[in-house]
This record gives sequence, structure tokens and C-alpha cells, in this order.
Amino acid sequence: MRTITLSLSCMLGCSTALAQLPDHTQVFEPVPALVTGATHAAAPSDAIVLFDGRNMNAWEQLEDSAAPQWDIEEGVVTVNGTGTLRSKQSFDNYQLHIQWRASDVIEGESQLRGNSGIFLHSLFEVQILDSWENPTYVNGQAGSVFLQHTPLVNAAKQPGEWQSYDIIFTAPVYLPNGTLQSPAYVTVLHNGVLVQNHVEILGSTYTRAPEYESVCTPFAHREEQACDGSMPLLLQDHGQVVSFKNIWLREL
Ligand code: MG
Repeated sequence: MRTITLSLSCMLGCSTALAQLPDHTQVFEPVPALVTGATHAAAPSDAIVLFDGRNMNAWEQLEDSAAPQWDIEEGVVTVNGTGTLRSKQSFDNYQLHIQWRASDVIEGESQLRGNSGIFLHSLFEVQILDSWENPTYVNGQAGSVFLQHTPLVNAAKQPGEWQSYDIIFTAPVYLPNGTLQSPAYVTVLHNGVLVQNHVEILGSTYTRAPEYESVCTPFAHREEQACDGSMPLLLQDHGQVVSFKNIWLREL
């Protein structure tokens, strides 16, 4: 790393405001990689594309690792009751973009309207729900870290409209003896609006109380597995019609 310390002569000759700065250093290297930014549907140039509208080859059924059976039509994949999906690839820390749409045919209420979810690290659910004029417990509405953190605001759109999540996830870290060294953190933007600001995830969503275990049972999965290191992403089939498109992820 190459740095330049503000010299005393600069401080004397520079503006009062600059002179009042603490002893900062200017950092020139490493230079951040040049990445084409996301515009609308396009994924950044360094993203791992998990669904581009053509196939669900990056996913498998959680239950039996078979090919997903969700419906794909006109660049959109839709939950149809055939089961929760798991990404074939595992991830550690990442930025995730996903667009989702609750059905415009309003059926059910509360948790039974447009319910799906994204299980970060297979364990921690960021809730997807039709939260347009649909009261429910607030730590279970769209943009919540399910049963742990209520979203800062309700940024929901009407059912039938496309919505987006941009999620920055930091995975938990365990010591070699299996004890937790640092918990998971998540930041969530819902339709571009900050709804979770680097909140600490308290533990697995579907343990009796949130807790971290080095050996755990991911959502809807019957087998225990080591939960340290990289883990797949899950997309929940909660039995309601929710569609997805433009799913991509950047490893951090
Ligand atoms: Mg859910």
C-alpha cells in the first residue's frame, strides 16, 4: 500500500478546514476494480448471475437436489408449490440483488399473502411478503429480518408491481473450537430505500430462539451440517404465488 501523509507545509498552506483535519493519509493503492454499475435489469460486470430469465441452472430443489420445478415464463420464475430452492454454489460475504413480485390476485392475509423469503447463509430469513395494506406482525413484514428486526420503513409497492431487494450480507465467523467469533450482519434496501442498516443477526431464524450453532439445520432441511464457512442461498416456497427475476450476487 502506498500512502502520502499530508505534509506540514501543506497544512500551513492549505485551507483552514483542511488544516483542521487529523493526520490523515491519502491512499493510492490498491485501486478499486472498475465495475460496470447496475442499471435496471443489468447485472454488474463482476456479478455471479443466479437467474437471468432463461433457466434456473444455478439452483436445485432443497428437498432432493433435483432440478427446480418452478415455472419459468417470459424471463420470470414463479413459485408453484414444488418446494424451496437452494443455490448450487455456496457463498460467504456478498451483495445480493433480487427482484420479486407478489401476485396481483389478492388471496389470504397477513403471513399468507405473497410470502416467500431469502435465506441468507441458508439460515437467516429476509422476509418477502405482500406488505401493501396487509397488516401482520411488523418483524415479519417485507424487509424484516424475520422475527428479529422490523424494517425501518415500509417501502412496499402494490401487489403485481416489481420490487427489489439489495442486500449486503456479512457471514458469521466461528473459532476453530466452534464458538462464535463474530455474528452475521445485514443491510437491506427495499426498492432502493434503506430498511435494515447493518443490523446484527441474532442467530438462525428457525431455532426455538435465535442462536448460532456451528452445527445446524438449515431451513426445511433434515440433515445437520457445519454452518461455518460458505453456505448456499435459499429461496422459500411458502405456498403463495411470488415471482422473481434478475437475481445476481457479488462476492465480497
Ligand atoms: Mg417467508
